[in-house]
Amino acid sequence: MIEPLGPRPRLLDRYRAFLPLTDATPALSLGEGGTPLVHLRRLGAAYGLVNLHAKVEGTNPTGSFKDRGMVVAVAKALEVGARSIICASTGNTSASAAAYGAAAGLDVVVVLPKGAIALGKLLQALVAGARVVAIDGNFDAALAIVRELAAGDDHPITLVNSVNPHRIAGQKTAAFEICDDLGRAPELLAIPVGNAGNISAYWAGFTDYAMAGIVERRPRMLGFQAAGAAPIVRGAPVEQPETVATAIRIGNPASWTLATAARDESGGRIEAVTDDEILAAYRDVASLEGIFCEPSSAASLAGVAKLARAGEIEREAFVVAVLTGNGLKDPATAEAQAGAAILDAGASVDAVRRVLGW
Ligand SMILES: *Cc1c(COP(=O)(O)O)cnc(C)c1O
Repeated sequence: MIEPLGPRPRLLDRYRAFLPLTDATPALSLGEGGTPLVHLRRLGAAYGLVNLHAKVEGTNPTGSFKDRGMVVAVAKALEVGARSIICASTGNTSASAAAYGAAAGLDVVVVLPKGAIALGKLLQALVAGARVVAIDGNFDAALAIVRELAAGDDHPITLVNSVNPHRIAGQKTAAFEICDDLGRAPELLAIPVGNAGNISAYWAGFTDYAMAGIVERRPRMLGFQAAGAAPIVRGAPVEQPETVATAIRIGNPASWTLATAARDESGGRIEAVTDDEILAAYRDVASLEGIFCEPSSAASLAGVAKLARAGEIEREAFVVAVLTGNGLKDPATAEAQAGAAILDAGASVDAVRRVLGW
């Protein structure tokens, strides 16, 4: 007799002890979390690492890790009787807010930098029925606007950017899952840094697990910004951030001090990687491992590649790189980076043989 496994636990039930939930928090789920930790054998070999893993967050309901925090933020908004939510976004926060807002029956407003959002993310928000406002300004300007709109009491509305502490709380769950899957914490955790909420959330998650005695040690945190949008690396805000990695195209991160605290407390670092390095990692993880992530996600692997080649990561070290979002969101970059051209052929066996050179 094979015992049934039973239902897959919901993310918020599984980690309830570590989350700000009460008996009055409504149950809300689109099936977030429970994402794969994949051993990258071929890419690891290319980098000279035998224990390189990826936390594949693109398998979340809306295709990015944002769902982990959004489910908590929206459930808490419901708990206090909110009727609407608002956010600024480089794309994925808006896709996630639109989806969870729709599921919760809330009005959703998203404010975006015009022309700087990957097409898939924009369409996710529009199809889910969010009201999308595109401004002539960058993400940092959009965040300043929604913060002010949410603070005014003329229009009661909950801000669901990562400055909302419930977002960070929910995003801690990815660190828990990594420890649960490995049976320990990794030695190094590599992660892209944009608004810097996620690196702060992972550090808080590893810290919760260490304090609870579930893991012995916490990892060193390795954050990577795009070279054209690297305020933390430079030590000053960047007026006009530029990078192909639009999800981390942020010049003045809201969680700056939390991120540098995570870096310093863990003995880690926050460094820059160029767009060329990001795109190389983006192509390599797809062609060597079959994992299609978005450019911003590949910043974590680009950083690992760089440090490994410089001899700064030991061959046996347990490294987890967070792949934050799904490659399907950004078809324009995929099209520009796709290595192989389409081979045209007539509809016959011979014609197909011919173009294949068989
Ligand atoms: C939001 C996002 C990031 C950056 O996360 P922060 O918490 O803003 O640092 C990186 N990659 C993807 C795909 C994202 O959606």
